[in-house]
Amino acid sequence: MPRKLHWVRPSLAVVMIVLILLPVLLFSAYELFSMNTTERMLVETYHRQLDGVLSSVNQFAWDLVSGWAAALNRSLIEGGDVDSVLRAQVERHQSVEGAFLADSSGKLLGLRMRRVGEVTTTEIESMIRESTPSFGRLVQLRQARYTRLLPVLLDSAAGDYRVALLFAAEQSPGVFCLAGFVIEPERFAREELGPRLGETAGTDFVAAVFRKGTVDTIFATEASGLDRISQRRTLWIFPQVEVGIRFRGSSAEDLARSRSRQLLAMVIGLDVLLLTGAWLTYRNVRRETELAKLKSDFVSNVSHELRTPLALIRMYAETLEMDRIQNEEKKKEYYATIVSESGRLTRLVNNILNFSRMEAGRMPFTFRPADLNAVVDASLEVWREHLREARVEVEERLDSSLPAIPLDGEAVGEALMNLIDNAVKYGGDRKYLFLATGKEGERIFLRIGDHGIGIAQKDQQKVFEMFFRTSSAGRDGMRGSGVGLAIVRHIMEAHGGSVTLESTVGKGSTFTLWFPVSH
Ligand code: ADP
Repeated sequence: MPRKLHWVRPSLAVVMIVLILLPVLLFSAYELFSMNTTERMLVETYHRQLDGVLSSVNQFAWDLVSGWAAALNRSLIEGGDVDSVLRAQVERHQSVEGAFLADSSGKLLGLRMRRVGEVTTTEIESMIRESTPSFGRLVQLRQARYTRLLPVLLDSAAGDYRVALLFAAEQSPGVFCLAGFVIEPERFAREELGPRLGETAGTDFVAAVFRKGTVDTIFATEASGLDRISQRRTLWIFPQVEVGIRFRGSSAEDLARSRSRQLLAMVIGLDVLLLTGAWLTYRNVRRETELAKLKSDFVSNVSHELRTPLALIRMYAETLEMDRIQNEEKKKEYYATIVSESGRLTRLVNNILNFSRMEAGRMPFTFRPADLNAVVDASLEVWREHLREARVEVEERLDSSLPAIPLDGEAVGEALMNLIDNAVKYGGDRKYLFLATGKEGERIFLRIGDHGIGIAQKDQQKVFEMFFRTSSAGRDGMRGSGVGLAIVRHIMEAHGGSVTLESTVGKGSTFTLWFPVSH
C-alpha cells in the first residue's frame, strides 16, 4: 500500500486552474487590452486638446489680417485717395511692410512700401499678373461677404522672404479691385503671433513658431524642450510657417506610458499575489488531503498493530492453558513471546494515548532533576530479555559524570522505548544497539544507534512528522504506526531540547536526544 501521497487527484489541479488561473489570465488579458485602449484614448484626447489650441492661434492670425483687409476696404469705400489709404495701412500696422491696389485688369493703382525699394513695383506687377486667374474667385467670395486672403510668395533674397496677401476689395458698390499687403511672415510671427502665443501657452504649454518642415524656431515661448514639440500645424495665412505646441512637463505619450507602466506593474503584482494565493491554497489542500490519507493509514496500521499481538498472546496463552506443551524450553519461549507482545501492546497504547494528548495540546510533563543514565538503565532493563532473545548486540557508553538535569523521566523513558523499538525493528540483519550519554558544551545528549536499514536523506526530516513512514518500512511489512518519532520530537521540544538524526541507507541510523543542562 503506498504510504506517501505525491500528487493529489488531478481534479484538484484542474479545479484550481479553472477557478483561479483562468480568471487570473482572463483578467490580465482584459487589463492589458483595455490598458492599450485607454492609453490610445488618453493620447488622442491630449492631441485633440492641443489641436484646439493650434486652431485658435491659426484663427487669430487669420482674423487679424482679415481685420486689416476690412479696414483698408472701409477707407476705400469712404472715398480716401488710394495713396493715403495705403499709407495709413502701412503706418498703422507694424508688421505690414507694404500695401498695394490694382484694378480688375491687374493694373497697379498704387503701392506703398514701409522702406522704399524693398519690393519693387515691377515685382508686385509681375506677381499681380500671375495671380489674375485667381482674381475672379476672390471677387466671387467677396460678393458672398467673405474676404478670402490668398498668400503669394514674393521672390526675395535668400532667407529673407516676403509674402503678398491678396484679397478682393470693393472700391464702390459693385466695383471690385485687387488689394494686398506685403508681409514678412517671420516678423509677423514674432510681433503679432508671439504675444498671442505667450498668452495662450500660459504656464501649461510650450509653444513655438517654426520654419516649415524644420526645427528652426522663429519664435518660442521658452527656449528649452522645443525638440519635444511633435504637434505642429501649418499657419493658414502663411503656409511657410508652422506653429507647434506641447504640454509643459511630461508629454501625453510620456504620461500614457508611465500610466501604462504603473498599470502593468499593478497587474503583474496582482497576478503574482493571486498565483501565490492559489499555490498556497493548493499546497494546503494537498497537505490536508495527504494528512487525511496518512490518518486513515494510521487507523488501519493501528488496527493491524493491535490485532497481531493480541492474536499471538491469545494463541500462546491458550496453548499454555491447555497444557499441551511439555518442553520447558518451548514453554519459556511462549511466555517470553507473551511478555514481549504485551510490552508492544502497552507501547502502542501509550503512543496512541500520547498522540491524542499531543493533538489536544494536553500532554502533561513533570520536570524533576534526574540522572539521565538512570532513565536509560531503567528502559534498557525492560528490554534486556527481549534483546538477548533477539540476539541483539548492545553497546553501552554511558558517561557517569553527568549532572542531574530537569527531566520528565517517564516521558524520556517513553521516547527511549520508541527509539530502541525502532533500532530493533529496523535493525536489519546486523542486530546491534548502541547507547551513549555524554555532555557537549551546555548540552547533555543521549544517543541511540543501529546498523540497520537506514533512512534516505530525503526522509530524514519527514520521519519526525506525524504518521509518516518510509516507503521501505511499509513495503517490508514492518509493523508500525508512524507516531513514535513525532512523539519523541514533541517530548524533546517540551524539554527545551531537540532530536537529531544521522543516517545512511544500508549502514544504520543514529538518533541523538539533546537536553539543555537547565531550562
Ligand atoms: P513506526 O511506528 O512506523 O516505527 P516511527 O515514528 O517510530 O513510526 O518512525 C517513523 C518511520 O521512520 C518508520 O516508519 C521508519 O520508516 C523510519 N525509522 C524510524 N526509526 C528508524 C531506524 N532506526 N532505522 C530505519 N528507519 C527508521
